[in-house]
Amino acid sequence: MDDELTLAELPVGCSAIITEIEADAAERARLSQLGLTAGTELICRLRAAGGSPVAFSVRGVTFALRDTDCRRIRLRAARPKNSRTYLLAGNPNVGKSTVFNALTGLKQHTGNWCGKTVTGAVGHCTYRGQHITLIDTPGTCSLRSETAEESAAAEVLLHTPHDCVFCICDATAPERGIRLALELLECGEPVILAVNLMDEAERQGIRIDRALLSAQLGIPVVTLSARKKGAARALLDAAADTVLPPEKPPLRYSEETEAEICRITGSEHSSRFAAVSALLQKARQNPDAESKRTAAETERVLLDAAHRICAAAVQIPPEAGARTRLADRLLTGPLLRIPLMLLLFLLVFWLTLVGANYPSKWLAAGCSALCAAAKTAAGTIGLPQWLSGALIDGALRGTGWVVSVMLPPMAVFFPLFTLLEDVGLLPRLAFNADRCFARCHACGKQCLTMAMGFGCNAVGVTECRIIQSRRERLIAVLTNALVPCNGRFPALIAVITCFFAGTGHSLRAALLLTVLIALSIAVTLLCSALLSRTVLRGTPSSFVLEMPPFRRPQLLRILVRSVLDRTVFVLGRAVVTAAPVSLLIWVLANCRISEQSLLSLLAGLLNPFGILLGLDGVILLAFLLGLPANEIVLPVAVTAYLGCTALTDYGSYAALHTLLTANGWTLHTAACFLILTLFHAPCATTLLTVRRETGSRRLTAAAFLLPSVVGILLTGGLSALLTLCGL
Ligand code: GDP
Repeated sequence: MDDELTLAELPVGCSAIITEIEADAAERARLSQLGLTAGTELICRLRAAGGSPVAFSVRGVTFALRDTDCRRIRLRAARPKNSRTYLLAGNPNVGKSTVFNALTGLKQHTGNWCGKTVTGAVGHCTYRGQHITLIDTPGTCSLRSETAEESAAAEVLLHTPHDCVFCICDATAPERGIRLALELLECGEPVILAVNLMDEAERQGIRIDRALLSAQLGIPVVTLSARKKGAARALLDAAADTVLPPEKPPLRYSEETEAEICRITGSEHSSRFAAVSALLQKARQNPDAESKRTAAETERVLLDAAHRICAAAVQIPPEAGARTRLADRLLTGPLLRIPLMLLLFLLVFWLTLVGANYPSKWLAAGCSALCAAAKTAAGTIGLPQWLSGALIDGALRGTGWVVSVMLPPMAVFFPLFTLLEDVGLLPRLAFNADRCFARCHACGKQCLTMAMGFGCNAVGVTECRIIQSRRERLIAVLTNALVPCNGRFPALIAVITCFFAGTGHSLRAALLLTVLIALSIAVTLLCSALLSRTVLRGTPSSFVLEMPPFRRPQLLRILVRSVLDRTVFVLGRAVVTAAPVSLLIWVLANCRISEQSLLSLLAGLLNPFGILLGLDGVILLAFLLGLPANEIVLPVAVTAYLGCTALTDYGSYAALHTLLTANGWTLHTAACFLILTLFHAPCATTLLTVRRETGSRRLTAAAFLLPSVVGILLTGGLSALLTLCGL
């Protein structure tokens, strides 16, 4: 098992050993004079923006090479002395990331649904003076699967040098995990079986005979509840002694298959696992009766063995899981499913609005006071008028707006959303919505990627990896930005509150927001149907969704993680973008060409298009400048309007309403603004993610164009309709 890579792929800070330099003799001689020879260790120090050049140290000297040259230097990972590498493997949703986070102190995304870990993660910790590297892998049920993330998991498990694999399984349903452990043992892997979620198993009366399990499998077995503080360390204790792969293969196939395996192993010098895989491959390629029998047999042998072991060592009472089944019947029943889902959305939005009101006021007051203090300080130190204007009225004021209006709703919405995820409601939403997606020839799992899109479209696009069919994955990727991400919520809430609901009417505002969200879901479905009947035509793939048990959420962890990870991330991005854009707007508003500010000139240019959409030039300019981050669209418009109107009490909805109406906003403008906020081009981060996920410029352009065109058509259509109705 080797870990081959090139210098171009070596992460910064990591070291590796040179194995080969692909160059002609003269070039190789030159490089070897510099100390670059096979067997030498090098450390990657720096990588310039865009990945090239790369600086690295060899024999104490640091060089830089372009990435094209780096690709010709082949390496193998260097393992520091006194270090160990453990891999985490397991079915989806069994607590791998929880174990990983507990041991490394990192913050991998955890949540109660299958498919959330679509990429691996590497973390480190120390144990009794040893340096431990832990590698988390995406959830997998089989090492021979052909789906993208399961093959990625198999790739890591079979080709990364390691000391042992922790195969994590779910104590409430251990059979599948044991099947995976058997498959790993078949490949000669040193495995420790970690039976996680013991607290849940005990609550359901499930009894696991650890010693018997260990004896049957011939490997160490650890039982644990990874959520409990310090519990995961038991795995490190178990792995402290060298873990050896089993001497005898654990599985016996029929005599013919065993003979075939022996023949392949002998003639091609391959491992037993490789021989079994070769048989399966053959079965896939030539579907003759004999090959099919072998494929069915290998799978059956694995499952039978897992079933036998479980039957002996695990006792599951018939009433186990009864509460989840009852809750499922209620939540997904024909009577309650739609009203319950709508009520759930309504409740989340209402709590967000009510919860955000007070902190919003306090923050607004704080930011006002800060601006006033900064003005006084600027006057005292004699800062030139233009500089204090640019810094305080421009950058500070705009940033203050973003913080006071955006932070509170985010700080409430994110924890609520994470709570739904942790309880296990997301797969139920996907279950309920599948019929609609099936009618659109899309995959029901798109509901999950859409739900993640409410948090962040870039995350939603990455999550689309859980959809196996390429056609359906592309539909999900291209339509993800049609649901509003968290960055757009504050603008929606602010305009709904100012123009349609009125301050103090949180329930009305929540209702309107729910209607808008329902509209965005309907448009997503419509566009998915359109795509699947035109450019992405094809038959829907089968829909396999795992319904995890309902789990008691970890309230404190949810609060801390969602505020620290998600809220601070989105806010940080907004502030980082808002400060320079606010400054730019201030400069544009204050640089004049023949009595007219640059801002009014630009806005004037865009005005005719803005009017067509029921808006104005300033709003269109704000949408254009908001491309780096959606969250700054309304703040940019506000800053632009501020160029001519003084807003002292900014941050309060009443003041915002006064400012907007003073600049010509009517109910018509507000309605069109809401629709364009729902449907417009995704932010730059999302577009970059689409590029990374699809590897195609054309598809990235399509991901940009689809929501933009939908937005322009719907906003223009609404504006024309309102004008016709005399509104
Ligand atoms: P992964 O998909 O295998 O990485 O699973 P996660 O680490 O994301 O965990 C799946 C869900 O199980 C999350 O909601 C976790 O909080 C929960 N979980 C993990 N370990 C335990 C445990 O020991 N007890 C309980 N009750 N829940 C757990």
